[in-house]
Amino acid sequence: MTVNINRGTYVVIKSQAEDRRYSVKDYVNELLDSYVKKYEFVDKQWPGLSVEGFDENNKNHIILKDSKKRKFFDVRLVSDELRCEQDDSKCCIHTRFVWMMPEFAKLGIKEPK
Ligand SMILES: [Zn+2]
Repeated sequence: MTVNINRGTYVVIKSQAEDRRYSVKDYVNELLDSYVKKYEFVDKQWPGLSVEGFDENNKNHIILKDSKKRKFFDVRLVSDELRCEQDDSKCCIHTRFVWMMPEFAKLGIKEPK
C-alpha cells in the first residue's frame, strides 16, 4: 500500500528516522503502531469519552463528550496547564484524557498532576 505524506512532515520524519537508524518505512510503521496503541489504551481507559471539538473562537478550549453520562466537559489550556471547568480540577479524567491524546501533543501541555 502507498500513502502520501505531506512534504513538511516527510522532511521531519526522514530526519528523525535517520537519527534513530531506522528506514523511513520502518519508522513510519513504528509511529503508526504507537499511535494506534495509544488510542486503544485511551478507549479502554476512558470508554465513552471523545473529543467533540474546539471552541471556534478559542483554540485553547477543548470540548469533550461523555456519551455514557450524556454530558459535555470544557477543558481549557491556560499557561500550558489544563483545567476542567465542570470538575474545577487540573487533574480529573478529562484533563488526563486530553493530555494522552496524540493530536494535542503539539500544544506542549504539562502533565496533569
Ligand atoms: Zn473533568
